Amino acid sequence: MSEKGSPAKQPSDVYQAALLPEAPQFFHESSTNQLAVAGIQRNRLELGIACGCTPKSLEIDVDAYIAEIAPELGISRGKALEYVEVGIQLARMPRLGAFIKARAHLPFAHLITIARATAPLHDPEVRAAVEEEIARFVIPRKHGEALRGVRSLHKFLQRVIEEIEPQLRPKNLPGDVDPLLPAGEREIVGESIGFEDGDNFAEVFMELEKTRALEFKATLESISTSAGCTRVEALTHLIRGTAEAKIILNLYCPATEERPRTAWLGGVGWISQLATQAWIDKVTHIRLLADESAEGYAPTESQRAFVKGRDGTCRFPGCDVPAELCDIDHIEPYDKERPAEGGATETPNLHCLCRRHHNMKTAGLWNVARDRDGVELWTSSSTGKKAVSLEDGPLAGHGRYTFDKRGLRMTQALEEYNQYRQELIEQSQKLVEEARKGEDADSPDPQDPPNANEFGF
Ligand SMILES: [Zn+2]
Repeated sequence: MSEKGSPAKQPSDVYQAALLPEAPQFFHESSTNQLAVAGIQRNRLELGIACGCTPKSLEIDVDAYIAEIAPELGISRGKALEYVEVGIQLARMPRLGAFIKARAHLPFAHLITIARATAPLHDPEVRAAVEEEIARFVIPRKHGEALRGVRSLHKFLQRVIEEIEPQLRPKNLPGDVDPLLPAGEREIVGESIGFEDGDNFAEVFMELEKTRALEFKATLESISTSAGCTRVEALTHLIRGTAEAKIILNLYCPATEERPRTAWLGGVGWISQLATQAWIDKVTHIRLLADESAEGYAPTESQRAFVKGRDGTCRFPGCDVPAELCDIDHIEPYDKERPAEGGATETPNLHCLCRRHHNMKTAGLWNVARDRDGVELWTSSSTGKKAVSLEDGPLAGHGRYTFDKRGLRMTQALEEYNQYRQELIEQSQKLVEEARKGEDADSPDPQDPPNANEFGF
């Protein structure tokens, strides 16, 4: 791609570009908000400690080193090790390190999440590729965007590293068990069912990996809705086989690929390649999703699937609750008395909110507006503070192939074509010139007698 169009001053490095004064800032980087400023100062101090703890060489003994610095800081061995881990990783990813030090916008919990996920990446090329990708999380896409939480960051890093070096994909966090592992392994990793006897009641407790828990919950809910009973009665029906359940779990794959490599499972997120193949084999219905409108208040099943796949999580800025566990809310409220005057049941007017943030919006504590690009601007009614959230699901940006973007793509395609054409022209000119030179050398000088060369005088 030619870069003729971009101004000469623009840095080519994403991290350097994000340090320019006009680059977007996260919501918590506001210099006019005292609390936000204090938060950045705290981050800066912690970064200072992490850098101050970085050992000069990676060949010194860990225990001896930690035993020296932990008392100096008055903290535990484990906490001191965290600072050292962050210091080492920021030094090994210098572009990211310089960027984070300049902005000090990442709380320590985010830094240690990055440090732990990247520490096993010993190949400098792999590490550099991951470092480049991390920009997509630590640089805001829009001004005023809320920083996503550490759980989202961990999942993001898992995905990025799995793409680049599958062998080094970070392990799941506790409670996020890999749906890939065989059932027996899963038990070891954390699944269990237990019984505890009490006086009048017995306690049954279960710890299930996420995809199984999702299936279990959806089954109970389906039975309790269709049989009009409680979840406990629904469980009894399930055990006795006295009720039928129909459950819908949404698996999102690109429509262009016949056998997609990775898919997004509602309630779980991006799943690994092997799990994708296993889930694809269970698919019974295929839908092509797009923006849709419906009559009445309740969104249709395909609208729900579209909105969940588009938003990915609760749309309140910084909230991590998966879309699958969220309510579908009308952004502009639906007016049951006069439907024509209220917000319509159409996908651009629908979004995902977890119960807590749904209640907050209904109570009028925050107001929200969504623009044509799906960016939501949230405003606090009491303080007037504003924060932004973006779509984060596999369908984010779906259906917004605007004329602008189309034009841009055509320009790119044309530039590529013309660059190729120019190369071909230059190549053929070169060939002609070389051939001509060769001819000049081979052909007799017009003043020479014919066949002079041939006879060698
Ligand atoms: Zn929420």
